[in-house]
Amino acid sequence: MPAAIAAARMGAKVLIVERNGYLGGNATMGLPWLGHLDRNGRQVIGGIAQEFNDKIKAEGQALGHSRCGLHNSVSICHPDWFKIIAFEYCRNENIDVLLHLESMETNVENGVLQTVTFYGKGNKVTVGATVFVDATGDGDVAYLSGCRYEKGHHNDGKLQPPSMLMSLIGVDEERLLDYLEAHPEQIAFNGSETACEEVMKAFREIGYQQDFTFEVQGFVRPYPQELQQPLIDFTSALGHWMLEEL
Ligand SMILES: Cc1cc2nc3c(=O)[nH]c(=O)nc-3n(C[C@H](O)[C@H](O)[C@H](O)COP(=O)(O)OP(=O)(O)OC[C@H]3O[C@@H](n4cnc5c(N)ncnc54)[C@H](O)[C@@H]3O)c2cc1C
Repeated sequence: MPAAIAAARMGAKVLIVERNGYLGGNATMGLPWLGHLDRNGRQVIGGIAQEFNDKIKAEGQALGHSRCGLHNSVSICHPDWFKIIAFEYCRNENIDVLLHLESMETNVENGVLQTVTFYGKGNKVTVGATVFVDATGDGDVAYLSGCRYEKGHHNDGKLQPPSMLMSLIGVDEERLLDYLEAHPEQIAFNGSETACEEVMKAFREIGYQQDFTFEVQGFVRPYPQELQQPLIDFTSALGHWMLEEL
């Protein structure tokens, strides 16, 4: 998004091609945005990222930047509002958008990318441009174009394991938070071994044998009520998916 917005503002004719039915990538997963502040609390990310933050906050759907011992800062934004604001940007900045199309082929001549071909829902679309920005997160277009790449740890090729999010619904939040405050020794901050063992034991009892690590980064009381439900809905959907996978 920021590359498209910046290019449009500089007068370029811009087209975003996206495999999902909305824009925003992982910013729409419900994750907190990390690292807007440095370890001393000084703002080090601004520009279009900050514009997004400001616009979502103006809708009452973001909390601004809070300092965090682990990530320097976390910025909670409602993921669905990111999608809405992203489409507003496209409309206001005259950015064209094609959704539900995934890059599958490229045409490179004399080392210069000429076209990218996208497939989706029975369609095949070939796009030519003077400049391509590969914002796939994984370098898909560069890979398809034959660029050299590295993947995983340089010693053994291992990848960082993905995080799994889940939440419980039907919880009396006030009682839970009171309890956790009264029993801090039972909260697993950043993967306390006891909590990991407990969770692992519970999963083994229902027949899940693979090893995994479990991390609770903390329970936060200050979410405003209007942000809680969307976050809970979102994470519970992931939780259902996770249970089905087991
Ligand atoms: C499990 C996990 C947890 C993370 N936790 C956090 C966190 O808590 N906070 C944080 O700040 N960062 C977190 N990160 C890192 C953060 O998600 C990434 O740094 C960030 O999303 C990268 O942004 P991006 O725009 O490059 O790619 P993405 O956000 O991945 O966006 C890529 C976009 O391109 C689209 N796309 C991909 N391939 C194609 C294709 N072939 N054709 C067409 N479209 C395509 C995707 O649908 C998506 O919209 C996490 C990452 C992961 C994987």
